[in-house]
Amino acid sequence: KKIGLNEIRSKFLDFFESKGHLSRGSFSLVPQNDSSLLLINAGMAPLKNYFMGKEEPPKKRMATCQKCIRTGDIENVGKTARHATFFEMLGNFSFGDYFKRESISWGWEFVTKHLEIPEDRIWVSIYENDEEAFEIWNKEIGFPKERIVRLGKEDNFWEIGTGPCGPCSELYFDRGEKYGCKSPDCKPGCDCDRFIEFWNHVFTQFDKDENGNYNPLPNPNIDTGMGLERIACIMQDVDNIFEIDTIKHILNGVVEIANVEYGKNKKNDASIRIITDHIRAVTFLVADGVLPSNEGRGYVLRRLLRRAARHGKILGIQGSFLYNLMDKVVEVSADAYPELLEKKDYIKKVLKIEEERFEETIDQGIEILKSYINELKENKNKVLSGKNAFKLYDTYGFPIDLTKEMLEEEGFEVDEQSFEEEMEKQRNRARNARQNDESEGWKEDVFSKIDKSIKTEFVGYSSLEESAVV
Ligand code: ATP
Ligand code: MG
Ligand code: MG
Ligand code: MG
Repeated sequence: KKIGLNEIRSKFLDFFESKGHLSRGSFSLVPQNDSSLLLINAGMAPLKNYFMGKEEPPKKRMATCQKCIRTGDIENVGKTARHATFFEMLGNFSFGDYFKRESISWGWEFVTKHLEIPEDRIWVSIYENDEEAFEIWNKEIGFPKERIVRLGKEDNFWEIGTGPCGPCSELYFDRGEKYGCKSPDCKPGCDCDRFIEFWNHVFTQFDKDENGNYNPLPNPNIDTGMGLERIACIMQDVDNIFEIDTIKHILNGVVEIANVEYGKNKKNDASIRIITDHIRAVTFLVADGVLPSNEGRGYVLRRLLRRAARHGKILGIQGSFLYNLMDKVVEVSADAYPELLEKKDYIKKVLKIEEERFEETIDQGIEILKSYINELKENKNKVLSGKNAFKLYDTYGFPIDLTKEMLEEEGFEVDEQSFEEEMEKQRNRARNARQNDESEGWKEDVFSKIDKSIKTEFVGYSSLEESAVV
């Protein structure tokens, strides 16, 4: 049954409300009072203090739909069917309340009764030693053991150093052989796009101590995460997450601006999807108060925007286009995220300044990089010097990761260490210049001049006052 992304989101939250959960919208992408994380990458991240017992949750059962950014997946975007850098994660959480049995059986109920996914297309993974999970799936739910896969620690055990941790159980959907890698070992957990992982249930039942002992937690927690775009991809039976209802609208915008056809040429399709993904990410980042810069979150924003601009060039798009494409993101997401509409003009202004700034130098930069590559070829060298990479960065605005990526496409690399040394030299120069003359040495960044009403710390959406809790 075809069902839109926005409808799936409300179905999920309604379902868990009916199971006694407090349901609420997304927290900001910018972590609050948490310096361990650059950007929120999972539904549980903004709830960490509840899990750690550092703060009292408003209710022991919660359900959210959380905006997430995973820059670690940037290389996968456009290549796999299932990865985006920006996505929404649905999740239900228990803070020392219900545990494995409820989490698994409610998950099963939602997926089979409410989404009506055919049971025989579903596969399940469990942690290899988690007999409790096996019993629940096999004996209580009646799920056939032939489709239960046992996976090891890397895949199905969640832990970060010491502290709360535990096994996972994941739900997969078999999209059929046509999506498979043809390997005889292809099964859930395989990197190809046949068995698509869509829901991870984490059973936080241990506390790992300094000596590596796993001590049972008196009140174990539940933390689940289901990718909204992925479940929509399954429900709408489309090839990849960029072809679901909402995102396809943005993708169509790219196709229109570029005046190319989608689905005709692999390389173009990858660029189209990359732009589609990155414009979503940057729009939401700016809405949450992030501004382009050379560090931290601002760097993530700058890197994504400039990478998208470069893929625009690959498609033959002339001039700045991203700041207009942003309208498409607002059109499909503003119902769920009213801040997009409220801050539309502001977001547009930020994107426009950043894009136009890069636009001035990108063509020249690409030419310079080409000449560097030719030089390397002539000298039978594979490594671009840090000095040259720094020039691309400093004069042409190429984030180092972009330079790296463009070189890798041609089989070359960057001397990152000497690039870092050049960066350090520049920092020192700036420091000295500031000491010598306050007014002259320091170029004020354009972004410090525009609307100051939104800061990175901004959380005050009046409709979501709980934001301030965490
Ligand atoms: P994969 O193995 O496919 O990379 P994952 O195991 O890294 O996924 P989890 O950390 O378990 O993902 O996150 C929970 C859920 O969030 C996943 O089951 C998936 O539905 C969704 N998800 C994770 N990463 C992405 C992404 N980059 N884009 C879209 N959805 C994602
Ligand atoms: Mg992953
Ligand atoms: Mg996985
Ligand atoms: Mg997973």
